[in-house]
Amino acid sequence: RRSVSFLSSSTETEEAATEEDASAEKFEFTSDVGRVMDLIINSLYSDRDIFLRELISNAADACDKKRFLSITDGEEGDVEAPPAIKIKCDVDTNTVTIEDSGVGMTKDEIINNLGKIAQSGTRAFAQALGDGKSDVNLIGQFGVGFYSAFLVADKVTVVTKSMQDNTKAYKWESEADSSYSISDASPEEIDGTSGTKLILQLKEDASTYLEPSKIEELLQRYSEFIEFPMSVWKEKT
Ligand code: ADP
Ligand code: MG
Repeated sequence: RRSVSFLSSSTETEEAATEEDASAEKFEFTSDVGRVMDLIINSLYSDRDIFLRELISNAADACDKKRFLSITDGEEGDVEAPPAIKIKCDVDTNTVTIEDSGVGMTKDEIINNLGKIAQSGTRAFAQALGDGKSDVNLIGQFGVGFYSAFLVADKVTVVTKSMQDNTKAYKWESEADSSYSISDASPEEIDGTSGTKLILQLKEDASTYLEPSKIEELLQRYSEFIEFPMSVWKEKT
């Protein structure tokens, strides 16, 4: 059911992006984000496969929102890039990239969604974990799934272009310390009218996720009911 495409190993766009860091603005995470990240990293380490389910579910939510907005706007939708999710494993750069052609985020949305915790659920989350309910489903329930990226990545880069203003794109970056940065990115980095690209710079002991077969296995196990097309891109050999 899942299509597998082939990609030549070109990383030009990522190199171009790092040259624009002159515009980088630094932000501090709110303190609950730090606590949640620590909780996730310390208590869910042995279940770290779940990062993929969380990030795919965010990508699918974003595709769903775009589809909904396209319908209500009476538009045709994004002809150039219909809602879809692509995953790329790149051995050369030690990265896994999850790309969606969903709604994307404006700069304000980035700050509100990836720098704060929406629900005041941190304490409840900590308590539930503390009660030994270290059920991995808690992470989704408390709306903190995004931070599970740090289970497998030292550094997470998010490049996003919003449907609301697709003349602009932004790059969010964090190494799971107390801060993150936002800088301008080129709108061309995102294909189509809007979308988001998550680049996970894998931890040294997480290289198993560079194997497309591992990713495919996880998609089958955890993301069976995603209704948008998903493809795992492989490097040409
Ligand atoms: P939840 O999905 O439960 O809201 P998450 O921590 O998983 O919590 O994600 C936080 C928020 O970040 C999402 O609600 C969404 O607004 C935003 N977000 C995360 N990933 C994406 C994405 N791929 N595209 C657009 N927005 C995203
Ligand atoms: Mg989520």
